[in-house]
Amino acid sequence: MARGINTRCVHLEETEGKTEHYGAISCPIYQTSTYAHPGVGQSTGYDYNRVSNPTRDQLQKTVAELEGGKDALAFSSGMAAITLLMEIFKPGDHIIADSDLYGGSIRLFKQINEKNGLKFSSIDCHREKIEDYITADTKAVYIETPTNPMMNITDIKAAAKVAHDHGLLLIVDNTFMTPYLQNPLLLGADVVVHSGTKYLGGHNDTMAGFLVTNRDDISEKLRFLYKTTGACLAPFDSWLILRGIKTLGVRMERAEKNAEELAAWLESRSAVKKVIYPGLLNHPGHEIQKSQARGFGAMLTMELESKEYALAILDKVRMIKYAESLGGVETLITYPATQTHADVPVKIREANGITDSVLRLSVGIEDAADLIDELARVFDEIESGR
Ligand SMILES: *Cc1c(COP(=O)(O)O)cnc(C)c1O
Repeated sequence: MARGINTRCVHLEETEGKTEHYGAISCPIYQTSTYAHPGVGQSTGYDYNRVSNPTRDQLQKTVAELEGGKDALAFSSGMAAITLLMEIFKPGDHIIADSDLYGGSIRLFKQINEKNGLKFSSIDCHREKIEDYITADTKAVYIETPTNPMMNITDIKAAAKVAHDHGLLLIVDNTFMTPYLQNPLLLGADVVVHSGTKYLGGHNDTMAGFLVTNRDDISEKLRFLYKTTGACLAPFDSWLILRGIKTLGVRMERAEKNAEELAAWLESRSAVKKVIYPGLLNHPGHEIQKSQARGFGAMLTMELESKEYALAILDKVRMIKYAESLGGVETLITYPATQTHADVPVKIREANGITDSVLRLSVGIEDAADLIDELARVFDEIESGR
């Protein structure tokens, strides 16, 4: 029987029954840049750190295993992973990308990849037809689901079918859901992207990125690019992410429970015009989310009655931190308009609903009652004019 996801977060089955690393329970940090050769033409299996490192290998195998992939590569950041992925395309290639992606991905596509000859169409994958945008040059479809920050849900299986019917790759950034809640490769995607900086690391203390695939030809291309370009994850950071993953399940369960409670509380406040959380029955993607993921995650977006109200919240939070990023044990609140999505053209940003009165919460693992207490204090201070 296949092992459960919590077990797979803690144990890498293929290393069991062996006494590698002297039986160390915590995978050692191989802090070395190079490896001695036993003799001419011989190798220990490791030659140079940019190509491979035992600590990083343990991490890569763990992530590949969690996503149901054949191969995973660990990068120094999520953006390093996406940057390398774009190298599998050539000038003139066309990619259909969701318009509500992580702002950094949009910046990479528009300001760097386009300069190098790639072409992009930005579309709302949750309601527009991907088919309508396919041209003779189209090579891939790039999505996030839920999207960032508007939490739109795209049907991964349906997107994979359209992509494969037309010979395209489906790439899914699975950062928000993590392999604990969603496995795009098992739903038909060809490549999964992660910012390991977020839930996989989980403690707001390091950066990492991943590419995972179940296709040998893609793995071969990516490994060639990886050793050639060099944005590999350092041994210590690999160890931090490995350690983070061990508690992925318990963190996700608790953060999600907190997010559900917060979403319900926020819905009861009159200053909140809209709470966007896929776990709410009124979310248009609720049913699709239920059919393709094992939960709803811990990211939620809210629209306040005004820009002034949104800014006042950012000003008054104390325990909840006003900071970029997400997916850590600490609850963070961000202002997408000027933080994560500052480089997205205003017209596109507002068309996607990211107005000046929208805030995004990454709900952590604190006690839900304390998170609600904090927000209640902030709301009361604003409403009483203090
Ligand atoms: C943060 C993030 C990225 C970029 O990852 P970094 O580790 O910050 O480079 C990409 N996609 C999503 C969905 C993210 O949240």
